Amino acid sequence: METRELTCVVCPAGCRVTVTLDDAGNVTSVTGHTCARGKTYAESEITHPVRTLTTTVSIADSADGAHMLPVKTNKPISRELLFDAMRQLKGYVVAAPVKTGDVLIHDFMEPGVDLVACKTIV
Ligand code: SF4
Repeated sequence: METRELTCVVCPAGCRVTVTLDDAGNVTSVTGHTCARGKTYAESEITHPVRTLTTTVSIADSADGAHMLPVKTNKPISRELLFDAMRQLKGYVVAAPVKTGDVLIHDFMEPGVDLVACKTIV
């Protein structure tokens, strides 16, 4: 049996949550949360942590003279994929113009996850 403590980051209350796992790594109890969202977050954070990737990529041919475009994944991806995702985006160049919300890469790192533009650049 193992006990892990974490801070719920779903809302600013920042509840301290304790998760207990059995020897097989299955969650057996969650305590300290004050709402259902906190329980869901804690279980996910322990068993399958995910993060939304936010970064910048290069942009070419911008009339604005921009060189970098902020981007993000439209859904969280496995935390263990973040470094590989950053490696894949190194050297990736988008051609202007781009609008906020444009999908740059479909199925990025995981099926159903898109890399989208976070800024309009002409
Ligand atoms: S458990 Fe609920 S109230 Fe506490 S930080 Fe998480 S979301 Fe907020």
